[in-house]
Amino acid sequence: RAKADGRGIARFFDRSMQDAADRRAAFEGAMRNGLSLGQFRLFCQPQFDARGRLRGAEVLVRWQRGEHDLIGPEHFIGFAEESGLILPLGEHVLNETCRALARWQDDSTLGRLKLAVNVSVHQMRHPDFPSAVAGILDGTGAPAGRLCLELTESVFAEDMHEISGRMHQLRAHGICFSLDDFGTGYSSLAYLKRFPLSELKIDRSFVRDVSTDAGSASIVEAIIALARKLKLDIVAEGVEHEAQRSFLVHGGCSSMQGFLLGRPLPLAEFEHQYSAAGVGHA
Ligand code: C2E
Ligand code: MG
Ligand code: MG
Ligand code: MG
Repeated sequence: RAKADGRGIARFFDRSMQDAADRRAAFEGAMRNGLSLGQFRLFCQPQFDARGRLRGAEVLVRWQRGEHDLIGPEHFIGFAEESGLILPLGEHVLNETCRALARWQDDSTLGRLKLAVNVSVHQMRHPDFPSAVAGILDGTGAPAGRLCLELTESVFAEDMHEISGRMHQLRAHGICFSLDDFGTGYSSLAYLKRFPLSELKIDRSFVRDVSTDAGSASIVEAIIALARKLKLDIVAEGVEHEAQRSFLVHGGCSSMQGFLLGRPLPLAEFEHQYSAAGVGHA
């Protein structure tokens, strides 16, 4: 009997593993299909300086699977990274971003903005990444100085020379780097000096409690002081309340983004809302 039960359990596991594999294959197929159909859409969340002037936007991807079916990146980025689809997806995001930057050049408002794109460690790991980005800049005619790449501390667990070499190659084109979700990973602060970074982003989790918790307030103050010493710009993310904004402004934070200031908007809506001349909406 025990043997029979064991076989039953083994069969059960085989079947559930098979189901999981089938689901993954189906999801991968759906993503590939979505990529070829242009279902991965760019949203832009505005970023403002301490005086409330628009300085740029963060590009955030969403999957428009159907008219009323918009899927957030938390549901597919991890899978895209495991399956390798992050490479074509990341290329699509960069290409669409650069096309926007190229279109915006003649607009007196949009032409001054920087767009920040989230780049996965899987993209940075690829030796051809810098030349792929250079090819996209060439192909679209985007001004490289308006493009910023957001990395997370996880890239610093990779081979330091390779990553820093790739960053320098991209930096030589004028592209800048921002360190996303700063303080939530476990990197040594020494990395801040060793890599060509321009900006730190204070993670939402610290910003959330900044006006109610002394510990979070001290961490945010310390990050701002550190960024100043290292001559890095600072962006606070996830600003939802006036008390948080006011704390950050008085603490010397140079820029911020969050639902209080602006939600992520579809790229075309962002262009329409913020352009001086109504680019693309003639
Ligand atoms: P992230 O880069 O830290 O992006 C910020 C996230 O915080 C975005 O969520 C944004 O919508 C959300 N957010 C902004 N302001 C507020 C606020 O005031 N309150 C709250 N509660 N949330 C706010 P989203 O768009 O769901 O993106 C989640 C993550 O997905 C991003 O985190 C980024 O790591 C990843 N991601 C998004 N787009 C891409 C992409 O094109 N490529 C890659 N590799 N990752 C991406
Ligand atoms: Mg980001
Ligand atoms: Mg972030
Ligand atoms: Mg975050």
